[in-house]
Amino acid sequence: MSLNYQSTRDKKNQVTASQAILQGLAIDGGLYVPTELPILNLDFKKLAKMSYQDVAYLVMKEFLTDFTESELTHCIKSAYDHKFADEKIAPLRKVGKDYYLELFHGSTIAFKDMALSILPYLMTTAAKKNQVDQEIVILTATSGDTGKAAMAGFADVPGTKIIVFYPKNGVSPIQEKQMVTQAGKNTWVVGITGNFDDAQTNVKEMFNNQELKKVMANNGKQFSSANSINIGRLVPQIVYYVYAYAQLVASGEITVGDEINVSVPTGNFGNILAAYYAQQIGVPINKLVCASNENNVLADFLRSGTYNRNREFMVTSSPSMDILVSSNLERLLFHVANNDDKQTKALMDSLLAVGKYSITQEMSEGLTDFYGDFATEEEAAAELKQVFKQEEYTLDPHTAVAAAVYDQYREATGDKHPTVIVSTASPYKFPRAVVRALTGEVAESTDDFELVTQLAAISELEIPSAVSELVTAKVRHDIVVESTYMQETVESILKLS
Ligand SMILES: *Cc1c(COP(=O)(O)O)cnc(C)c1O
Repeated sequence: MSLNYQSTRDKKNQVTASQAILQGLAIDGGLYVPTELPILNLDFKKLAKMSYQDVAYLVMKEFLTDFTESELTHCIKSAYDHKFADEKIAPLRKVGKDYYLELFHGSTIAFKDMALSILPYLMTTAAKKNQVDQEIVILTATSGDTGKAAMAGFADVPGTKIIVFYPKNGVSPIQEKQMVTQAGKNTWVVGITGNFDDAQTNVKEMFNNQELKKVMANNGKQFSSANSINIGRLVPQIVYYVYAYAQLVASGEITVGDEINVSVPTGNFGNILAAYYAQQIGVPINKLVCASNENNVLADFLRSGTYNRNREFMVTSSPSMDILVSSNLERLLFHVANNDDKQTKALMDSLLAVGKYSITQEMSEGLTDFYGDFATEEEAAAELKQVFKQEEYTLDPHTAVAAAVYDQYREATGDKHPTVIVSTASPYKFPRAVVRALTGEVAESTDDFELVTQLAAISELEIPSAVSELVTAKVRHDIVVESTYMQETVESILKLS
């Protein structure tokens, strides 16, 4: 069966999977979603014996139906190889009562590697299939992790260039060092004086700028996206939820058919949307717990039905979740509005015009499997410390938010379902916040690499090479601009005429 993708803002805009991956954002500014969700007859007894790569093929072929078997297996094999430090790719660890799905064993030690290690292969395959001979320019806004993972994937990939924008004062020093030391003749990294939302808004504006699109075409180029607005990011993320369930079956922790809960540290709503898709295609998921940090716009939305971004932007110790406009929520809204593009567009127009919108009672009823709450900085730090004390397991600050919110949920409801807590980064990516949570105090003057050494002593976890090699890595990128100059910066980098 072939599956097409339609825009959330105008259903008439339909494309194949490979075209959706190439375009990133639909021409009307909407996001591509499948015209219908495939039902996979998932045989978890069989899946329990399969490798991550085999599960990936089984899931992804149902969503990317215009890719041939050999194309897709090539993409999967090339992505999920020795770049991952764990041969299971996404190992599941039992810690106390819960299961941590470790998605940080890729080359940049955050969960973005799960999708961004395969996206360049999907994109270059898609370009070939569609006889695209223009150069593909990936524009990316990052809250810290996407940028590095996208560059690691696209560096020196022929026919592509990648430009990454990050909030100069909104990422951890390790995240920043990872980005500004990126090698590759086709990579650019630009700091902006605004926050992540500014970066994301301006990137989206460039995608929607028809004049700029013409200029790009005249210069033999077209834009695409490595952000989770690209369906090529989301589909690979569905895989690990199927795999996690299969692993629980394999280890005898559950029997086939038992329902589980998942708790996802959420920012742009991509990871948890993938969990929702996994549920829709047949993974027995009971609750989808959407965990936010002090930027608690989603928690408020899930409780009240009103999304309101008009609030102070908080810089927290889980910077990859410091977001007030969660792009992928648009896809969920479209689904719970029974694929009503006009209604979705009206909500998004309202968000743009007045920074808020309210959904109907009917739409709210489609959200009952979601539970939203948030953890304060203190609550997340206390959770990190407690899990370490009780279980000798070191969380990163994002995962700590998901664990803290899950504790609150369990307390409030008494829910006893087996629970997968999605673990999105290695603690070594955020040593300051982790050491502070574990020891109580960290002097401002202690440098991040000194903290890495301290963290190694406390946690007894091996320092990943992604961190140790940063100490001597050469800085290659040092541009910083005002967020209002992002387009000029792109024009100048690409020498557009
Ligand atoms: C990106 C990121 C998140 C948030 O994921 P979304 O898909 O944007 O909701 C959480 N934790 C870490 C470490 C991340 O890099």
